[in-house]
Amino acid sequence: MLLARLDDGPEIFHTLQGEGVSAGLPAVFVRSSLCNLHCRWCDTDHTWNFEGTPWQHDKDADPAYRKHRKAEVAIELPTSEIVARVAAFPCRRVVLTGGEPLLQQEAWLDVIAGLRAVDPAYVFEVETNGTRMPLPEFRAAVDQFNVSPKLANSGMAEGLRTSPEVLAAFAADPKAWFKFVARGGDDLAEIDRFATRFGIPAGKILVMPEGRSSDELDRHALEVAPRCIARGWRFCDRLHVRLWGDRRGV
Ligand code: SF4
Repeated sequence: MLLARLDDGPEIFHTLQGEGVSAGLPAVFVRSSLCNLHCRWCDTDHTWNFEGTPWQHDKDADPAYRKHRKAEVAIELPTSEIVARVAAFPCRRVVLTGGEPLLQQEAWLDVIAGLRAVDPAYVFEVETNGTRMPLPEFRAAVDQFNVSPKLANSGMAEGLRTSPEVLAAFAADPKAWFKFVARGGDDLAEIDRFATRFGIPAGKILVMPEGRSSDELDRHALEVAPRCIARGWRFCDRLHVRLWGDRRGV
């Protein structure tokens, strides 16, 4: 399967889950390459903003920013090697992330089967943008879906970032949780409308402040927290940003 690549190899790393209902738990992250969306603030743009593509990104404002050379930021690895690398960590929680991991479900199924053959106790979380329907066998194999629908602030057209059939399926799935990143009033009002439109129960919604530093998180948290209290949503911090900022591979 095609994984994201760091300077020293595939982006597979042992860390703490920084967001969502499992925040704070140690986990091995495996980051796949490729995404079907191109959010303008995406912090994993190395999974899709390749040379020769027309996508725009906030980082374009930095004269030093360049689109990524795909051969330098993506790596094709056989299932056996991914399994061996993940199994080498003393951790049985694995987060399949991206990019958009549901673009490579068949390959993930092989990885999951390989790891469960090593130890049936493995637990798998999937981070998804909620635009791709899980295959029945993929849904059965995964323990938890962390669904992160994109709002208007992503810069993506609504028809691309919103898949009503997929969102309705996740809203009814006991394995799925919804998490949103918000700056303030406009984002929070949009989450309200979104939850109503797709019938997402308040108890399945987590809202996190936007930010790439603790100062930014603190500022936006003061906007987000009161709406969580009023709506019955779960407030969620972003532990990895507080600990490591926007560094990759930690
Ligand atoms: S869906 Fe996620 S990975 Fe894809 S572009 Fe948007 S933020 Fe980045």
